[in-house]
Amino acid sequence: MEQALLLNASYEPLKVVHWQKAITLWCQGKVEVIAVHDREIRAVSFTLKLPSVIRLLRFVRIKRRFDYVPFSRANIYARDNHTCQYCHEKLPTSELTFDHVVPVAHGGRKDWENIVTCCVSCNRKKGGRTPAEADMRLQRPPRRPDSAPAIRITIGIDTAPESWRDYLYWNMELDES
Ligand SMILES: [Zn+2]
Repeated sequence: MEQALLLNASYEPLKVVHWQKAITLWCQGKVEVIAVHDREIRAVSFTLKLPSVIRLLRFVRIKRRFDYVPFSRANIYARDNHTCQYCHEKLPTSELTFDHVVPVAHGGRKDWENIVTCCVSCNRKKGGRTPAEADMRLQRPPRRPDSAPAIRITIGIDTAPESWRDYLYWNMELDES
C-alpha cells in the first residue's frame, strides 16, 4: 500500500492519498510529482515510479481549521522565496540551509521568528554569532506567515516515508536534535 502525500501549491500538506489516486491526479495534469517511491508499476508502454510526494499546480483554498502554517522546511523556504536572507541570492533547495538568527547558544529558539533561509556560505560565515556580531544584515525580519489554511495530517512522523519529512511538521524533528 504505497501512499502519496498531497501538498497544496503552497507546499502545505493536505492529505495522504492512495498511489492510484496520485497517478490519476498526475495524468489529469493537476499535480507535479516531487518525490517517488522505489517501487515501479508497469503499463503497456511505460514504467512509472510510484509518486511519494505530489503537489497541486493550482492553489486550493481549504476551509481553515487551524490558524497556523505548519513549521516545516518547505514552508520556511516558501516564506523566504528560496532566497538567502543575508546575501539575497535565490538558490535551489540543495544549496540552501537554515540559520538560527539568534544562535541556540544565545537562547535562540526554533520558530518562525528565529529561523531563516540561508545559503551554505553565509551560514558558515555567520557561524555561532548574531547578525550584529557577524556584521550581516537580514533582508527582512522573519515572521510567522499571517495565515494559511492547514489541515492536520493524522499520520505519525515515525511512519512517514523519508521523502515526506521535509513537508511535515518540522519542529518535531528539529527539537530532537
Ligand atoms: Zn547567502
